[in-house]
Amino acid sequence: MVVVGSYVVDLMSRTPHMPKPGETVLGGPFQMGPGGKGGNQAVAASRQGASVTMITKVGQDLFGEEAIKNFEQESIQTTYITKDEHEATGAALIAVDQHSENMIVVSLGACGNLTSEDVQQAREAFINADIILVQLETSIEAVEATINLANELGKPVVLNPAPFQDVRAEVLKKVTYITPNETEASLLTGITVHDEKTAKEAAINLFNAGIPNVIITLGKKGCYIYDGSDQGRLIEGFTVDAVDTTGAGDAFNGGFTTFIASGLSINEAAKRANAVAALSVTKVGTSPAMPTQKEVEHFLE
Ligand code: ATP
Repeated sequence: MVVVGSYVVDLMSRTPHMPKPGETVLGGPFQMGPGGKGGNQAVAASRQGASVTMITKVGQDLFGEEAIKNFEQESIQTTYITKDEHEATGAALIAVDQHSENMIVVSLGACGNLTSEDVQQAREAFINADIILVQLETSIEAVEATINLANELGKPVVLNPAPFQDVRAEVLKKVTYITPNETEASLLTGITVHDEKTAKEAAINLFNAGIPNVIITLGKKGCYIYDGSDQGRLIEGFTVDAVDTTGAGDAFNGGFTTFIASGLSINEAAKRANAVAALSVTKVGTSPAMPTQKEVEHFLE
């Protein structure tokens, strides 16, 4: 599998209250960890047994070195991670208060500068991959180059349209699987998605726009699938004690793409991806909260 997308370092401070403009607050514990949708989804996939090559860009700095070390520890191939000469490694500045409310500023830094040449350079990795996974947390230029190269080589491509950015209709048509959450499905279609009925309407809308497999994630309710083979269907989520839902979408996408590539049906892949995502919300954090293949198998026994 090739994953094309973002890497940012998460810098998280606990704070007794959110600072007002101009105020400095003495915070509580500080935590640092790998993040970014691309990186998180690559980790989720690798922990489910996929052989993953990551394509992203970091800065020539300590956070960039850490990123590469972290991917290597997760058995992710780093050959095509490039270093930007000018921009720093991306970072998310996260403040979490006593009520678990958060304020986040994400600077994509180097990974926002991924170019179509960076993607083209990884042609060999695309040729060797069974499936390609891309999000919208990088330049649209790199996203389009990814989808076009996957098409040229006849590889299936999963687009997780997060965070929402406009993608040209002719490019969307080349996607094999699209996995928006409720907000992104609403922005893509103009239909407000909040339940199974509206998810079905939006999914049919995206299917009619030329995307053969639509999977709309619906938080703890699970996900809705429409692939033209029947009336569409809800694949129910699993009930767990959620402690931190950030990264649930990333867990779902990494898992889903792995399971589709391994030959499971779309229903079975979505069910297992619901399990990966459910387990991820039982732990704090994003990448570090991704479950292993063993944990998922045990959960589904
Ligand atoms: P996030 O932005 O928090 O990473 P998202 O908005 O991209 O998530 P969601 O639709 O909220 O995506 O969730 C993705 C998947 O995660 C769901 O389809 C479901 O399988 C699982 N999930 C999310 N929240 C829960 C929960 N509270 N309990 C169990 N499973 C959950």
